[in-house]
Amino acid sequence: MPSFVIAEKCDGCQGQEKTACMYICPNDLMAVYPENKKAYNRDVSQCWECYCCVKICPQQAIDVRGYADFVPMGASCVPLRSSDSIMWTVKFRNGMTKRFKFPIRTTEEGEAVPDGGYTVDQKDLNDQLLCTEPYSIGLDALPTLNK
Ligand code: SF4
Ligand code: SF4
Repeated sequence: MPSFVIAEKCDGCQGQEKTACMYICPNDLMAVYPENKKAYNRDVSQCWECYCCVKICPQQAIDVRGYADFVPMGASCVPLRSSDSIMWTVKFRNGMTKRFKFPIRTTEEGEAVPDGGYTVDQKDLNDQLLCTEPYSIGLDALPTLNK
């Protein structure tokens, strides 16, 4: 089930040209109505329910109707993000509430190194090695079959 915006909570990221949900959606689905500056998912058929927009929204104005195997019918699953952790509040339809807190990063914000500090010496995009291999898997070279 795709994401949807709770209009009463959305403040349009206070008029920013690019809102947090527009910035984070990997599928470029979030847009803002020019009339009322409220966000909406402009192509729900393309939403893969990754929850990125739900997690980044500072107003907790986006939700996803989760699939029944993940969120039983009538329940809700709401994330609250901080700089180093994310708290999930799960409300079950019988009224029970559970909270789970997970760390979200192991490096300071803005300090992540894209290649993880490993040497990248691949020049051929068709190479079967993944970026940073073989060093990131602790080898100097990938084993090959002797022919
Ligand atoms: S991130 Fe949240 S508050 Fe900002 S525009 Fe999107 S839905 Fe609205
Ligand atoms: S759930 Fe993921 S794919 Fe769907 S609108 Fe939000 S960020 Fe985009």
